[in-house]
Amino acid sequence: MLTAAIYIRKSREDADKEAHRLNLQREQLPAYAISRGWRPVIYDDGYASASRENLANLKERARLESDIRANRINIVLVLEFSRISRDDSMEDYARFIGLCKDHGVKLATPSQTIDPRQTNEWLLAQITGSLSAAEMQQLKTRMAEGRAEARRKGKFNGGVCPPPYRYDKARERPVIDPDSLDTMQRIWAMAETHSARLISETLGLPHISVRRALADDRLMFCQALRIDSETGDTITCDWEPCLNADQSARIKAARQIRSNHKKGKKTYSSLLTGLELIYCGYCGKTIKTWHNSRVKLDGTRINYYGCQDQTCKKSRLIPQPAIDQGITINILNSLSKMDDLIKAWEATHRGENPGAELARIDAGIKAAETKKHRLVTAITEGIVTLADARPTMHEITATLAELTLVKTQITSRAENPPDWESLTITADDCNRMDLDQKRQFLRITLKRIDIYSAYAVLHYRFPRKPGEYTAKINLPPPQPGRYHK
Ligand SMILES: [Zn+2]
Repeated sequence: MLTAAIYIRKSREDADKEAHRLNLQREQLPAYAISRGWRPVIYDDGYASASRENLANLKERARLESDIRANRINIVLVLEFSRISRDDSMEDYARFIGLCKDHGVKLATPSQTIDPRQTNEWLLAQITGSLSAAEMQQLKTRMAEGRAEARRKGKFNGGVCPPPYRYDKARERPVIDPDSLDTMQRIWAMAETHSARLISETLGLPHISVRRALADDRLMFCQALRIDSETGDTITCDWEPCLNADQSARIKAARQIRSNHKKGKKTYSSLLTGLELIYCGYCGKTIKTWHNSRVKLDGTRINYYGCQDQTCKKSRLIPQPAIDQGITINILNSLSKMDDLIKAWEATHRGENPGAELARIDAGIKAAETKKHRLVTAITEGIVTLADARPTMHEITATLAELTLVKTQITSRAENPPDWESLTITADDCNRMDLDQKRQFLRITLKRIDIYSAYAVLHYRFPRKPGEYTAKINLPPPQPGRYHK
């Protein structure tokens, strides 16, 4: 088994992100090493200050060097090659790589492994050492792949083991803790017939821990099972199960019945409450229902929509029927001209050809990679010095990062036309719908509603006219002295 020295160190850039990045290194590098079949040994200088004056504090780096000299190490694994250098100087970096070369040690990041004995790879390492930040995203992707691989093999993810398990370092997997197993078995037994609240009261446990204990992922964990997020297959994990499938199914079924029961009771008094659709046009906060205690002479009572922020000066309380009706009428009018809507959609999306745009970007990425390769060759052949090549290399990497980003944006933007069939609706259909159906219908029609003092702006999910997604409805003027907050 190859021994991989994991070297952890702060970087001098991005001081604010360092806490997060150190965690990333401490959690993910060992996991990555294990997923590659390497035996990880940690050298952690993450606690040392990264400032230039404190180089002497990098004690682990010194220990690593002496272990390399003693031929105890096969691979040095770092988050980015730049972490290897003590002071970010090319001299120190080159010296360390030279040491690795002499002792047949390879250098690895989660995205690549290089052998310093190969001249080209040695040069590449020198260059990539200065490009770490820009290639961060790529590294993360590779690390995620390494974790995914370990997950597929049913290995523990790292982090905290949920009860009744604890992590056994020697066996490198979760093991059952008999004391907490007893409690868990009582929780599971009760959960077949009782609510989480009652269990927490009976057993004197915090409500939230009982709820967590009964969550789907926990029940799976206790059966030593896991769902492969890609294939949907069930993976058997490498620890011992303590819950059987039948009991797990009974617990889930009991929870389902209780939750349906609760949902049946839930009613909404107004069309738009709780849809996360309606916002204050002035401050952007959610609009909420303000209940009116005053009952009119005919026995009805009108509630109001208003900004949840009572200090929001420009907003006012608006009677709910005015907004509910205004919106319903606007939607019905828009949908009554279905042919126009379909034409507007086609006109808006005509000429869009993400395929061609993507091809252009791919060509750009390929060109940048060719350029990068040529530059490395030029350095290898002594045509360009390393120092001269660095600015160009930075430029190429920046271009690559930008193109990749644009590519992601285009891919995620690709929109599908709405389901016109389900949007075909008449005023009669609308009258026959109950409040819940109306609320569902609103969701597929509108993206957002902004409420102003005299009008509301509706943001449709599809264009009403070519390129135009919004509609404005007027609201009744305020009745002075009566409806103000
Ligand atoms: Zn507001």
